[in-house]
Amino acid sequence: MFDNRINLMVAWNLQESTLKDVKESRFEVAVLPVGSTEPHGLHLPYGMDYYQAKAVAEMACEKAVEMGTKVVMLPAIPYGSNRNSLGFPMTISLDQSTLNMVVRDIVDSLEHHGVRKLVILNGHGGNDFTP
Ligand SMILES: [Zn+2]
Repeated sequence: MFDNRINLMVAWNLQESTLKDVKESRFEVAVLPVGSTEPHGLHLPYGMDYYQAKAVAEMACEKAVEMGTKVVMLPAIPYGSNRNSLGFPMTISLDQSTLNMVVRDIVDSLEHHGVRKLVILNGHGGNDFTP
């Protein structure tokens, strides 16, 4: 991805980056936005938590890159733990233990690639990453 403001090749958004971008980058911290798929009243989309977490992560990563941080934003997880919303049609819920395992595998992958810091940007109140 080409950033005109700082006139450098930056691969902070992994989903939009090529292998060439990533090979020319070095990351110290990864940001993982996590949302959910559930209704948010009659006026907002099911992806609200996902969209918000992703948008905040994008803004934060852009700022961090401008400040010289070697950050990469990972693809956002669109599902969350929504057991108490399953009464609403088409709520899709992952058990928290499943979500934890997904995050654990992401951490393992990051560690394999030398990235030792992860910020989980959680957009849904039902997700509990406390452990
Ligand atoms: Zn939510």
